[in-house]
Amino acid sequence: MELLLILLIDSIAPDTLFAESPGDTLSLTPTNVVVPISWLIAVGIVLIAAIALAVTARRSKRIAEKIASRLCESEIQYCRLVESMSDGVFVTGLDGVVTYVNKAFCKCFDSMPQDIIGNQLECLLGNKSFQQIAAALDDKVEPARTTFVVTLNPASKSEHLEVDLGFICRNNIPIAIRGVVRNISAGTALEKELAKARYLYQEAKQMAATDSVTGLYNHRYLQERFNEELKKARQYGGALSVLMIDIDGFKDYNDAFGHLAGDDALRIVSKLLITSVRSTDVVARYGGEEFVILLLEAEKVPATKVAENIRARIDAHSFPHQTQLPTSGLTVSIGVATYPTDGKTKKDLLYAADMACYQGKREGKNRVVKA
Ligand code: GH3
Ligand code: MG
Ligand code: MG
Repeated sequence: MELLLILLIDSIAPDTLFAESPGDTLSLTPTNVVVPISWLIAVGIVLIAAIALAVTARRSKRIAEKIASRLCESEIQYCRLVESMSDGVFVTGLDGVVTYVNKAFCKCFDSMPQDIIGNQLECLLGNKSFQQIAAALDDKVEPARTTFVVTLNPASKSEHLEVDLGFICRNNIPIAIRGVVRNISAGTALEKELAKARYLYQEAKQMAATDSVTGLYNHRYLQERFNEELKKARQYGGALSVLMIDIDGFKDYNDAFGHLAGDDALRIVSKLLITSVRSTDVVARYGGEEFVILLLEAEKVPATKVAENIRARIDAHSFPHQTQLPTSGLTVSIGVATYPTDGKTKKDLLYAADMACYQGKREGKNRVVKA
């Protein structure tokens, strides 16, 4: 600043420096430029402000660099800590795709990180589908954790892992899933007994919610979940859609190829259903050849699109023996009902979806009908 003022004064001829001219200006020779004093003051103020800003910016930059370097240091410390843990640690996206694993996790699965990262978590956790994991977590944003036991080698039931799961949240919104995995097959006799008891309890709980033929959620679990999801939809003013899905002409298929072939077809349909919805949606076997899907936070239009996709996929699927059927293959009729427009209670919504499904049957089957 000082330097600038000196330069300014130096450029003004000494004999004219104090020569006042009309209009309160200084006439500067030899360039003959007339500059008002107020301009000089303004330029000075601007220069002072610019210098002050530059100093502040430089200081802020230094502080930001310091914070970044400290954060980096603490991140490195955390990484070292997690890497040195004897428990396995992993992180997945909300879609279940693994994004991080530590050394102990890799050891548990006898793999390298590059073999695990990018894969679906359920490929590793064997007897636990990601849908079940997501459902278990769904209600637990607060305190955001749940624990269950999985069997690494279901055939011999030899190795059991205790998995402790939770959400990683930002501003209270889940952005990823974190987990700690402990091999509970090792340890003292007492620890082993406790682990076994925990495992049996978890397995019993899982069995109580699962349909044994298809592996989907059963009727009882659906009733409980439906109540919970409705409660949430009411509380937060969200939508909830229900699909009632009934296989067309299933009795003929059973009669023609036997109950075992019928069971296989039920399992194929189940797989097609599961893979047509989000992992957080609820797919259940409602009865014999009837299924119900709860599409969480889904309005009527997207729910109908999902239903149409399911119908088309099952229609296009080539089921065993289907060429011997008088019809071209197995198909489904689907009724779609949405909370709150088609009903406010579980009973009303199921009834509305059921009626829409029956309408589909009456209109010729293999179709989606909105309530
Ligand atoms: P629609 O097109 O009108 O739906 O006729 P449908 O034959 O599919 O329906 P219906 O209700 O007449 O028959 C359902 C059949 O589903 C009867 C039963 O043999 C079969 N079913 C129910 N539960 C099971 C099961 O667990 N396994 C097998 N294989 N078949 C089952
Ligand atoms: Mg039926
Ligand atoms: Mg049927």
